[in-house]
Amino acid sequence: MDELTSDIEDTAVQRQPAPAPPFRSDLKIWMDGEIVPWEQATIHVMSHALHYGSSVFEGVRCYHTRKGPAILRLEEHVERLFDSARIYQMEPKVTPRDFAQAMIDTVRANGFKACYLRPVVYRGLGTAGVNPSGSPVCTAIVCWDWGQYLGDHSVESGVDTCVSSWTRMAPNTFPAMAKAAAHYANSQLIKLEAVRNGFTEGIALDTRGYVSEGSGENIFLVRHGVVRTPPLTASVLPGITRECVITLARDEGIQVLEEDIPREALYVADEAFFTGTATEVVPIRSVDRVAVGDGKVGPITRRLQELYLGVARGEIEDRHGWLTPV
Ligand code: PMP
Repeated sequence: MDELTSDIEDTAVQRQPAPAPPFRSDLKIWMDGEIVPWEQATIHVMSHALHYGSSVFEGVRCYHTRKGPAILRLEEHVERLFDSARIYQMEPKVTPRDFAQAMIDTVRANGFKACYLRPVVYRGLGTAGVNPSGSPVCTAIVCWDWGQYLGDHSVESGVDTCVSSWTRMAPNTFPAMAKAAAHYANSQLIKLEAVRNGFTEGIALDTRGYVSEGSGENIFLVRHGVVRTPPLTASVLPGITRECVITLARDEGIQVLEEDIPREALYVADEAFFTGTATEVVPIRSVDRVAVGDGKVGPITRRLQELYLGVARGEIEDRHGWLTPV
């Protein structure tokens, strides 16, 4: 390398701002089959994904257990990622099995005991128009140390929420079953409005006016000991934590119904909570400044939190085979 090139490269590296927490510049990232250092994990500004949102992704957690790090519901997350890719007609150049292995390898390469993983399948540099077919399907896996998604102590104490003025996407507009970056334009509007008005999270209704989900979480209500959550036809992401919680509740003999929930049910619920991989199980303390129940975390929410986190952390028997050791 001549002196001039090396100067330019040094300056370019210096110009890059230090990554803000939770990122660290010593993180290693898997990109299309190779583990590369943080600075090399870049893509071109003309990548199709940047202009047209042509990207699908996952959010996965790896927990610290007594037997070492373990990824929660690895197979289901890989399956949903490949389903999302299929819905958007993207064919990753890697098999689901190899992709799952790559996720394990990325956690190992970074030496994490516990972390959040973000696998992405996206359209890279190819053509300029909307038609995505001419742009290559690329893959990446990033992992980092991520605390409580809805804020410190949200899991213990709960969060205040509002019903969003933004509606979740209508059927046959964006496919809610896919976890696609483009859908998070809607999520961002819900979140921005909620935060601007002093709430931690917004709850969106579907186009019929029934409760759908949070900007990044599924929602559950409890009344008279019965747990209810909107069905998959209410424009919700088929959440993997949602499925875990339904299974754990039924294992405990708690009745769980997947049915349409009118908005007003939010104001008369005994308990309410969000579920999500990043979020985990977070109590909802209030909706539109109306306290949920007595405003304290309810017993069913607490029990389901204990069971979910207990299994994830390897403290409770993993009866359903949800953990994959790293
Ligand atoms: N809904 C939305 C819009 C989400 O972004 C998420 C987070 N992935 C969820 C629900 C919860 O899904 P999961 O439990 O699979 O993380």
